[in-house]
Amino acid sequence: MDNIVITGFMGTGKTAVGQEVARRLDRQFVDMDAIIEERAGKPIPRIFAEDGKAAFRRMESRLCEELSEPDGKVIATGGGALIELENRRRMMANGTVVCLNAASEEILRRVGDDNDRPLLDVDDPHGEIERLLATRSEAYAAIPWQIDTTGLLVEEVAERVMALGEARTLQVRYPGGTYNIRIGKGLLDHVGGALRAAGVPAGTRVALVSNDVVAPLYADTVEEALRVAGLRPFTCIIPDGEQHKTLDTVHSLYDDFLAGGLDRSGVVVSLGGGVTGDIAGFAAATFMRGVRFAQVPTSLLAMVDASVGGKTGVDLPQGKNLVGAFKQPEAVIIDPIVLTTLEEVEFRSGMAEVIKHGIIDAPALLGDLAAEAGKTRLTLPGSQIARALQVKIDIVEEDPYERGRRAALNLGHTVGHALEKLSGFELRHGEAVSIGVAAAARIAVELDRAAPDLVERIEVLLTAWDLPVRCPAFETEAIWDAMAHDKKRCGDTLRWVLPRAIGEVEIFDDVPPSIAKSVLREMGARSEQ
Ligand code: NAD
Repeated sequence: MDNIVITGFMGTGKTAVGQEVARRLDRQFVDMDAIIEERAGKPIPRIFAEDGKAAFRRMESRLCEELSEPDGKVIATGGGALIELENRRRMMANGTVVCLNAASEEILRRVGDDNDRPLLDVDDPHGEIERLLATRSEAYAAIPWQIDTTGLLVEEVAERVMALGEARTLQVRYPGGTYNIRIGKGLLDHVGGALRAAGVPAGTRVALVSNDVVAPLYADTVEEALRVAGLRPFTCIIPDGEQHKTLDTVHSLYDDFLAGGLDRSGVVVSLGGGVTGDIAGFAAATFMRGVRFAQVPTSLLAMVDASVGGKTGVDLPQGKNLVGAFKQPEAVIIDPIVLTTLEEVEFRSGMAEVIKHGIIDAPALLGDLAAEAGKTRLTLPGSQIARALQVKIDIVEEDPYERGRRAALNLGHTVGHALEKLSGFELRHGEAVSIGVAAAARIAVELDRAAPDLVERIEVLLTAWDLPVRCPAFETEAIWDAMAHDKKRCGDTLRWVLPRAIGEVEIFDDVPPSIAKSVLREMGARSEQ
């Protein structure tokens, strides 16, 4: 288990925060300064006075080497310990290093009466703090994860550190690179750190793209997180809704990017659901022939599906997602806390995708969801988001440009898209997919590709999560026509993804129309008049 290493200038609360984090996570706490004092048999001011600063720094370096073993310790370093590049590298190799900072006035207030600070034993301690901060600022800024502790209680800082320590990281490989998806409560405070950890240098201009529903809730937090990490953000707001997933909105973003001074070295960060991610990603893919991009998905659907895989794009009047580009993100940051503000219908819509991923390749996840069904709750733990996401990651890694296996992700979409369209998009995407998944299971059973009890298992689970499994009373032929016009059509045949069992799907091109239509009727579609 990686260590959590807390560093930063004197008076930023390293020891108190470290103790609190260790206590809450039930991990061993190590205070570097205390160990050095114990080994030297004297307090630090005497080490400085009798042995000199260089001797003290040598003791710190030796200790950094000893402590870099990754065994889950929480380490509070001395304020200057990680100024040395080699020490920093050692600690970062096997741990999450977090740098605490605070305004110089607050530091003076916190350490003003402390006689054990040899570096501040001068006539003008505030001036000395500013001078020392300036000499160390480059080394501190080289640490991606930063927390501004000004005005925060120890407990609040500890919570932010724990968000990092407890986050899980999934890695996605694509032709030409890799990126990390970080999932954890409270990670909104660390969006900037995630970008820095992905290699975005301090000082980079960042366009934060959000919509007029999500921005009022979270844009300030994310802007602040970007700023604390040494980045230079500005926010661009687009209107909410699929009807604005257009080239006009992309054009308005280009204007905002130019007005905000984004250049080729800049980064676009999307903060929102799948619509925002698709628009911002496409703008990032095309602005100045492509700038870097990161995703902070805030809807469940965007977390488990849209934010990963690199597909971006917008709609045309003729149809959905007709213009687009593959644009891989530098990083994806998922904070499940934001799900609490999602409307219930949107949460359920996302749950359809989670269940869909479970049916495709995560039977254990489905087992958990079955056990929890019926408990009304509008959030999902990071562990379950991670498992649903892993299904998509495995598939997009195998088929990055959607030429084969990726079609499995369209489970439920053949019928789902048709129903969505016929309902005039009254039916939410996830609701339509839910009915489509149930239809696919029934067809699989009709074709003897799956055991009969599969239908009940899937329908019971979908129903338990308040998702529909009955088809609206549209004409069967109208549904069939809508399916035939769907862009997922492959040549002259309709492409179906059918579940063979929980955790196994197959792609099928030759479902007899009579079987598909009879299943739709059985599920509630109307017969010919
Ligand atoms: P959405 O982005 O419209 O979000 C749904 C609604 O929830 C919106 O009103 C949004 O503003 C709001 N919202 C989002 N997060 C919120 C939060 N935390 N609190 C309160 N409100 C919040 O829709 P969606 O379902 O997230 O995504 C659907 C879009 O994703 C479609 O356009 C679809 O084509 C696209 N998509 C893309 C991919 C891909 O691979 N790129 C995959 C699947 C879907």
